[in-house]
Amino acid sequence: AASNAMREAKRRGRNGYLFYSHRMAEQMRERMVLEQGLLKAMEQQQFRVLYQPMADLANNRLSGLEALLRWQHPSEGMISPARFIPVAEQCGLIEQIGEWVMRTACQQGQRWLAQGLTVPRLSVNVSVREMQSPDYVERVTAILAETGFPAERLEIEVTESIIQSVDQSLRLFTRLKALGVQIAIDDFGTGFSSLSLLKSLPIDRIKIDRTFVQALPDDKHSRELCRTIVHLADSLGMAVTAEGIETQSQRQFLQSLRCEEGQGYLFSHPLSKSHLATKLTPHCSALC
Ligand code: C2E
Ligand code: MG
Ligand code: MG
Ligand code: MG
Repeated sequence: AASNAMREAKRRGRNGYLFYSHRMAEQMRERMVLEQGLLKAMEQQQFRVLYQPMADLANNRLSGLEALLRWQHPSEGMISPARFIPVAEQCGLIEQIGEWVMRTACQQGQRWLAQGLTVPRLSVNVSVREMQSPDYVERVTAILAETGFPAERLEIEVTESIIQSVDQSLRLFTRLKALGVQIAIDDFGTGFSSLSLLKSLPIDRIKIDRTFVQALPDDKHSRELCRTIVHLADSLGMAVTAEGIETQSQRQFLQSLRCEEGQGYLFSHPLSKSHLATKLTPHCSALC
């Protein structure tokens, strides 16, 4: 891809070449800052986990939590996981970082349960590369044993690109299901997984990508897509969550489709563990 950009830039002439090489140098600098920083971030404890509530759309009550990683970089400030996770995948640090997130979330979940608080479900994002590492299932098994967090309340979120290799994902999912954990397909609708493949895998939940949710209720294409995904999930016996709900009209439209669960700023931003505790009391009122 880099050499294609180079060739294209050369074709465009001298200024184009300078422009592109400058941009490529910028990208390389950023990558180096991130890669070197990631090595230090683990040992210097610069990572944190926030938790975003999910809501039952029928009554707006808390139905689950998603663990979301944050990196507080000493000089660059807060860096989004969308920027550094791909770098961690490329330089092979994702296994270590992912294991830390899973352990931190399960420890916290177990602490809340021990305090008598409600943690209906705890979702942890796992990158495809991390899930494909040979001892992934063993690591999850060890963390569940070590923390005591109930496997039935743990959900693993992975994007639909895992489905490209059906045999492999069937073997993996089957082993994870045997532990008792649930499996969700994240950002659904952005990949190209065929519906028949989805049917052949033990998937508990589909999460509708927020780009479709955010175009609701005006965009006809997004309305049809959401409707189709909700019906698909229903006919396959899977649960469905809509991500990125920001407005009441988005919430109402999804509820009218009988989408059972929602997540987004309308209900809550991702919160630190201390800010979240009050929302986990057994008789806590609706999120919005
Ligand atoms: P995701 O798993 O799809 O997570 C949802 C993202 O949407 C989060 O972004 C969340 O903060 C954001 N979000 C939630 N509600 C709204 C809303 O109403 N409006 C808008 N505009 N955004 C909303 P975040 O935390 O920046 O994470 C981005 C992505 O990074 C995640 O997308 C996930 O793919 C990845 N990620 C986060 N934590 C981890 C992790 O521990 N491991 C791995 N492998 N990936 C992670
Ligand atoms: Mg997710
Ligand atoms: Mg998502
Ligand atoms: Mg996403």
